[in-house]
Parts: sequence; C-alpha cells; structure tokens
Amino acid sequence: MAAALASPAAGWRPRRLLITRAARGFDHGRSIMARAAALGVDIVELPGDRLTLPKSDDPRRAYVEAKATLAVVVAPPSKRRLQPISPSADWRVDLAEGCPAHCSYCYLAGSLSGPPITRVYANLDEILDSLPDHLGKGQVTSRLARRAHEGTTFEASCYTDPLALERLTGSLSTIIAWFGRWQADAQLRFTTKFADVEPLLAIAHAGRTRMRASINPAAFARFEGGTARVADRLRGLRRMADAGYPIGLTIAPIIAAPGWEEAYGALIDDAAAALAGADHADLTVELITHRFTAGSKAVLDSWYPGSSLDMSDAGRATKRTKFGGEKQVYDAETMRRLRFFFEQRIGGALPKARILYWT
Ligand code: SF4
Repeated sequence: MAAALASPAAGWRPRRLLITRAARGFDHGRSIMARAAALGVDIVELPGDRLTLPKSDDPRRAYVEAKATLAVVVAPPSKRRLQPISPSADWRVDLAEGCPAHCSYCYLAGSLSGPPITRVYANLDEILDSLPDHLGKGQVTSRLARRAHEGTTFEASCYTDPLALERLTGSLSTIIAWFGRWQADAQLRFTTKFADVEPLLAIAHAGRTRMRASINPAAFARFEGGTARVADRLRGLRRMADAGYPIGLTIAPIIAAPGWEEAYGALIDDAAAALAGADHADLTVELITHRFTAGSKAVLDSWYPGSSLDMSDAGRATKRTKFGGEKQVYDAETMRRLRFFFEQRIGGALPKARILYWT
C-alpha cells in the first residue's frame, strides 16, 4: 500500500499537516509547521486541540488518509512520564507517536490505538526537561555488566521512527545535540529503517547517541513498505560511524520464513561489508524475533489484507507478557535454531560486535 507522496530516500512528505491550537503556542510546533509549508505540505490550523480527519466508511481509505497525515500536538503529562523499556533501554522517551511507513508486522499496531496518524510533539523542551530526574534510576544498564558503561539509556524509537520524520521536525537533531551538551553518564538511542542521516552528521553528539539500523533481508522487503532500501540504511549507518557515533544493528523482526538461513546469512555479510574498515566503531547488535498478539494481528490483517507474512499458529508458542497478556512467538525448537545461527554468523562476520540481547 502506498500513501507516502515521496520516495523514502527523499524523505516523507505527508499530504497534510494538522496543528492544534496548543501546539501553535510552542516555538518547536511553529517551526515544524514552517518546515512542512516550505515542502509544499497542506497546512491545517485546527481551531482547538481535537484531531479530525475527513470521515470515510472505507477502512482502507481511512488508513491511507491517516498514514498521509502528520499532526503536531502537545504531549500531555501522562505521555511525558517516562516508562521503563527493557531490554532495549532504561527509559522510553517519545518525540512522536506513529510512523509513515507500512510494515506488515509493525509492532505499533498493537501498541497504539485509533487511526494511524503520525503525531509529533511540539513541547519538546518539556520532554527534555523530564530526563535528568531519571538519571541513574534505570534497570537495564545497571543490571548488565556488558552495558554498564553506557550509563542510563533513553530509547527514542519505541513509538515512532524518528529519522523518518527528521526532515519535517528537526526533533531528533535537537535531542542529539541536547545529549551532547548534557554532562551526564547517559546515552540516547534510536533505531531506524530510514537512511537520510545527513542532518545528524555534524551535530556535536559527544558520543552520547547510538544509532542502530533496523535491517532485514532484501528478500523480506515486501513486508517493509515505504522504508529505505536496506543497502541505503547500512550506508547511512556507516556514515554515522565515520561521524563518531556509536552504532548498532537491530535485526528485527527475525522472520523464520522459508530460506531464512541464506537470507539472513547474506544480510549479515552485507552489514559486515558496509562496516568493513570501521574498526573504530563501537558496534552492538540486537536480535528480536517476530511476534504478535491477537490484537495486533487483527489490526495488521485489516491494514494489510494481502500480506504473505505468516501469522498462523504453525510453529508458534504462546508466551505470557509482563502485562498479563499473551503473545505468539516462535516455538522453542525454532528459537533455538535461530539463536544458534545468529550468534555463530555474527561472531564470524562481525567479531567485534557486542550482542546486547536476544528476544
Ligand atoms: Fe512500524 Fe518501524 Fe515499519 Fe514504521 S518503520 S511502520 S515503526 S516497523
């Protein structure tokens, strides 16, 4: 399904930008409005703070309209309260909610409710102000010796892909520069399926931001509509390494479809080739297998009815979530084979990489 008006390489250009009255009260909100206007996006200044979209009885039409919409809103205090986000980081910090891409496994389908409008936050300064209170209070980096040197970690890509929005918002550059100035034992983290890192390269980041490229084999690109090509993501990652950023690979979601061993073997080789000679790089790897809940499956089936992504019960096991729900993961034997394969291949092709976790 295609709703983006520009290619991923050129950056997302939504069809319209909605900005609430409250968001117009913030410099950052007005700056996003000005950036979008300069790109020729239709600007709709809402009279109040409620988001409204043209009504449609056709769910596919409603999906397309929502995915083509960027909303600038104010994050209320409940959204600014940081949440623990193991195993990725100590804390989740949200610059936005939603994503313009069309991945047929997208975990946001189970996390966010309502039409998939991308909402960006105008009160970025208030979000940043809340971070120092969380310093030294996380669980993930303090508990694991291999991550202790990272300090308190803050993950910015739980509910969005912040690089996808950067041309329109500048929020990611702002928070990277903020961490660069923050004289604290802390790290910002983000992962992305996009590639346009140009605005980030010259920022004084002080090594306090780790970018990870979220990658999957080209053979599975059909599941990742609207994202940048994997080769471009790897090129972007290499440019970030050369700009002195700590970097990482998020191999996610790992899909045990027929031919997965060859496909992921080639992917790991491609990553090693893209990073060859970047021996200065502090490189991590995160390994996340495909999973879904009944709720996310129902949403994804409605958004991507023709998808060939296997979400049947075959080869699956039910696992309890920490919130008392249930999710479908690969069964124990598949998980064992996958894990063995990834640890072996990564150890051989990227011997200096630290695998942070497997899930
Ligand atoms: Fe979801 Fe990430 Fe794909 Fe965006 S890029 S649709 S957040 S999986």
